[in-house]
Amino acid sequence: MKRLLCVLCVLCGFQSARALDRQAFTFTDYDLQIKVTPESQSLEASGKIILRNDTAQLQRNPVLQISSTIEWNSITVAGKSVQYLAQIYTSDIDHSGGLSEAIVTLPQPVPPQGTVEIEIVYGGKVPQDSTRLTRIGAPAQTAAHSEWDQISESFTGLRGIGFVAWYPIATEAASLSEGNQVFDSVRVWQQRQSSSRMRLSFCWPGESQLAANGQSTAAAMQPAGLNCRALQYEPIGTAVPTFVIGPYRALNQPPMAIQYIAGHESNAHNWAAAGEKVAPFITQWFGQRQRPVQVVELPDKDMHPFDAGSVFFTPLVSGDEKDIQVVLAHQLAHASFQSPRLWMDEGLAHFAQALVREQQEGRKAALAYMDERLPPLQEAEEQFLPAALGKASGPPPRGQPLAGATDEVFFRTKAMFVWWMLRDMVGDDALERALRAYRPDQDKEPSYFQRLLAEQFHRDLQWFFDDWVYRDRGLPEFHITAVYPRKLIPEDWSVTVTVENSGSAGAEVPVAVRAAQGEERKRLEVRAHEKTAVRIPIPVLPQQAVVNDGSVPESDMNNNSAEIKTPDSSQ
Ligand SMILES: [Zn+2]
Repeated sequence: MKRLLCVLCVLCGFQSARALDRQAFTFTDYDLQIKVTPESQSLEASGKIILRNDTAQLQRNPVLQISSTIEWNSITVAGKSVQYLAQIYTSDIDHSGGLSEAIVTLPQPVPPQGTVEIEIVYGGKVPQDSTRLTRIGAPAQTAAHSEWDQISESFTGLRGIGFVAWYPIATEAASLSEGNQVFDSVRVWQQRQSSSRMRLSFCWPGESQLAANGQSTAAAMQPAGLNCRALQYEPIGTAVPTFVIGPYRALNQPPMAIQYIAGHESNAHNWAAAGEKVAPFITQWFGQRQRPVQVVELPDKDMHPFDAGSVFFTPLVSGDEKDIQVVLAHQLAHASFQSPRLWMDEGLAHFAQALVREQQEGRKAALAYMDERLPPLQEAEEQFLPAALGKASGPPPRGQPLAGATDEVFFRTKAMFVWWMLRDMVGDDALERALRAYRPDQDKEPSYFQRLLAEQFHRDLQWFFDDWVYRDRGLPEFHITAVYPRKLIPEDWSVTVTVENSGSAGAEVPVAVRAAQGEERKRLEVRAHEKTAVRIPIPVLPQQAVVNDGSVPESDMNNNSAEIKTPDSSQ
């Protein structure tokens, strides 16, 4: 009956589906009380939200969306029930592949920049659900490792926007089968609500503890038999509000603050020790920490870790301490260095991981670590390959300039390589000094960091920033077009190596001349679509020339060497 009434409401209050603008309102304030009951896999929420009309027209139909397994129970404005149409809206922005959408008809339209306060009540079950991944063909088990969000007796953990809409949102439908749509729509949402405020109070039964990425505040009430915690996100920024409830214990061992599951104490100590060991190296690169590194354990070793800004949710696997150090380097870098630009914020955190790998076992190990992450980037940049250019049926364009990239393959993987290349070009000292001089509040334009670097390093880097940061020109593609060995004095050789870059992005790349006894190398700047030669002296018989040791991401690494033919090599 309730549903039927709603449909009738639509006929009188809501004009036409085509006029619906789901992004008309920004959600500026959340004030929610949430009761979580693991035993029944459910939550009940009530509270108020404030919406601001960010369009130039009067708006009367705000849209409120929550996960499709939750239902709207009541929506009121100024104490009076308002008309709304409840429907399931198919969208992969939620783990269930759908949203319970309420299309509200307000008693009065909201003028541009005006706000409306809406009281809401909603509730329902949130079981583990991988529908959005399995329906595009992901194997069920792998999908479950990534979609770990759920309320259940064994584990309760919910991530917000992009995973489970456990608080109201309003987004256009997004599909995982449409390239980057889901990711883009999450980013758009996050950017719009980044200065919004969220106040949450959680209550749950039993002895369990809650861990989250919000700031703790005093809980207003503590109903009998329930545990309660209050949190705020002020502002929300780029955080995805995330919480877990379980038998958590705390281990505070600076710089680490670890919340682990009872019984896993020895793993927690191993992680704390690994963090303590690698911390000084990260501080040297990225400056003093602004906050501790908070790690919250996920109970199943196969669950995918989640980087929730100030908190890292991860299984505390027991393993090689070196591997744990590499994982923690990412969070340590975040704790020291923050930027509103993803390619800097995340890119540098990934770069920090490669640096730690290098410190552990040398440059080769670091390059191997980066190389494992290269194939998805090569695929994302395929459209720029000479073979694809000018073809109507090439791969779909995915390119994004790094400076504003929202696709992870760019702001994580490509950015990691870009920081590594910059470091190879300018040296550790200049890069460290430029990073120390960085002030997030002064970063108002994309060229800000380039200027900081120019104060430390006086060679022209404009071409590099143009090819790699301000624009997406794909990856370089190197091959050796000529090698001329010349014998100087009895034992010494000079080898001239000509390298062609048929890609559209230039780079400074290492060129090596190898011999049975070792190798000599030089760095060579090869701009896009150019050929450049370098002369490399070597005191023994040269056998092979190789361009790129893997530090420059390129489209194809399989055509990078040439044998050196000398009159002596046939002896
Ligand atoms: Zn990160």
